[in-house]
Amino acid sequence: MNAPSPVTPAAPITQDLLTIPRKLPETARRNLVGLTRAQLYEALIEAGTPERQAKMRVGQIWQWVYHWGVRDFAQMTNLAKDYRALLAEKFEIALPEIVTRQISADGTRKYLLRISGGHEVETVYIPEENRGTLCISSQVGCTLTCSFCHTGTQKLVRNLTAGEIVGQVMVARDDLGEWPKPGAPKDETRLVSNVVLMGMGEPLYNFDNVRDAMKVVMDGEGISLSRRRITLSTSGIVPEIAKTAEEIGCLLAVSFHATTDETRDKLVPVNRKWNIETLLNALREYPRLSNSERITFEYVMLDGVNDSDEDARRLVRLIRGIPAKVNLIPFNEWPGSPYRRSSWERIEAFADIVHKAGYASPIRTPRGEDIMAACGQLKSATERGRKTAAQIAAEARA
Ligand code: SAH
Ligand code: SF4
Repeated sequence: MNAPSPVTPAAPITQDLLTIPRKLPETARRNLVGLTRAQLYEALIEAGTPERQAKMRVGQIWQWVYHWGVRDFAQMTNLAKDYRALLAEKFEIALPEIVTRQISADGTRKYLLRISGGHEVETVYIPEENRGTLCISSQVGCTLTCSFCHTGTQKLVRNLTAGEIVGQVMVARDDLGEWPKPGAPKDETRLVSNVVLMGMGEPLYNFDNVRDAMKVVMDGEGISLSRRRITLSTSGIVPEIAKTAEEIGCLLAVSFHATTDETRDKLVPVNRKWNIETLLNALREYPRLSNSERITFEYVMLDGVNDSDEDARRLVRLIRGIPAKVNLIPFNEWPGSPYRRSSWERIEAFADIVHKAGYASPIRTPRGEDIMAACGQLKSATERGRKTAAQIAAEARA
């Protein structure tokens, strides 16, 4: 017989557990970043702001946070001291934390950011002549498994909140020193002049948070980026496409990548749900479609997979009638990636056919490859499971 264990309690422990004083969680302060104007209004009233003042307070706080980049309520000098103290007690102005920042030889900056729960996402800043593009993430990982994409090897961990999406823009503005200085002449040159939702994740599978975040970023009294300077890239989530125009109003890019369902099924597996024809029909009906707001068809150039002259001709036949431009993306390799980049001659020959058919066909210059910041190379260490190299190769063959 086993000797009684010394830790076996003599009496039932339930009672003890009930009487042990439990540490109450500290009252969490609510983060204001990412709240829409309407949500901020509600939050201020809930915190005790008199209703008749709430609208004005929203405007004042909004300007401090999103125009001036202020993080401390004490600096909001047009608010009464008591009110600032109340705000500081109830709220915080919190951004994702920069874990690492890498700067490429070409000036591209990649930020690894830590968000709540200890998860990590990547954001990339790409300086260009007269403009700068910030590539932001919408999810930690991705539910989809596009076979050429590094993020696709990382399972979805969670959606980002609106605050975490806006936070990426604010972190970049902090790092680039882009907030206006009081009293200084207005500077119209913008370091972050464009935002693309082309980082980790499928933005249309996190629609509400992406929409709310973009509303904050577009608001004219804050960061004030025009809707035409924001591009949302989707792998083709058909039921959400029209909503992008109606509720956000930004530009749309579609990860097309193939001209037959057989090939697209392999490259962008969500094609098995909404195939090329269904996707193109949704794009033809895209509410904001016009020549000045063309849809970008993204097309990754994979050696021997989707890059023939025949593919190029099929592509222009498929998109006929849609105001479009075709953005050719030389494939960016990542550890274990199952494809090769098409040769430059091949990419140029493909671009030429598309161009001659009347569509702009720019070739996207790979940026920040040396720091794994180029399109499709993002992937954070936050994992809920990882595909093995063998699985990746098998899926590419399937
Ligand atoms: N989930 C969205 C947005 C993120 S991906 C989407 O799929 O559209 C942004 C773009 O990079 C997409 O067009 C995507 O297909 C492309 N991409 C992914 N992996 C790539 C790689 N390894 N090389 C080049 N482009 C890639
Ligand atoms: Fe997800 Fe886009 Fe990568 Fe596909 S290409 S796995 S949708 S992030």
